[in-house]
Amino acid sequence: MTVAHHPQPETLMAYAAGTLDQAYTVVIATHLAMCGACRGEVAHLEDVGGAILEKEAEAKIGADALDRLLSALDGSPEEEPRPAPIKRHEGVPSPLAPYLKGGLESIEWKRKGPKAWLAELEVPANSHSRLVLLKVGAGAAMPEHGHGGHELTLILSGAYNDRFGRFAAGDLADHDDDVDHQPIAEEGEDCICLVALDAPLAFKSRLMRVLQPLTGL
Ligand SMILES: [Zn+2]
Repeated sequence: MTVAHHPQPETLMAYAAGTLDQAYTVVIATHLAMCGACRGEVAHLEDVGGAILEKEAEAKIGADALDRLLSALDGSPEEEPRPAPIKRHEGVPSPLAPYLKGGLESIEWKRKGPKAWLAELEVPANSHSRLVLLKVGAGAAMPEHGHGGHELTLILSGAYNDRFGRFAAGDLADHDDDVDHQPIAEEGEDCICLVALDAPLAFKSRLMRVLQPLTGL
């Protein structure tokens, strides 16, 4: 699997630090199961974090602590990404398996448009974000939209294209509220994505804004 689109560095750093909300954590962990490069990057960040804690335990935080942290982060991982095999359960990468007990085949899709389906996955009640599966029919376009907050979209199967390029299985789109786009699913296969979001989408068309409650997004 060749992965072309990865999380933003700050998203990976928050993941390594354990500060991401649950839905985002699940999406990043699932991407890591599919992406050796990001697994290596997270291992590097965890090493850096550990080394800093060790050093600072000996000496009080010095004025140059931030500089040293930043220069350590600039360095490349010393080892090649660890080649961990993708563990799958019922055809689903293992971090996602607890949320999809019967695999992708058993999802109870709710129809949200002519060629759009949504399934809400259960996250802890105190979560600030939602975890949803989105299925866009082969060849169908999503309405053009921006984002009210931070949105992570991981492609599980199929592919879509938008102004940022082609997103296929394993690719992750990491969008903040300043990004507008209109994904169009490729012909031949439905596109199934795992999405974490903390605010409703910002649809461009007035009609879509009126219909928004029906979309569940
Ligand atoms: Zn990656």
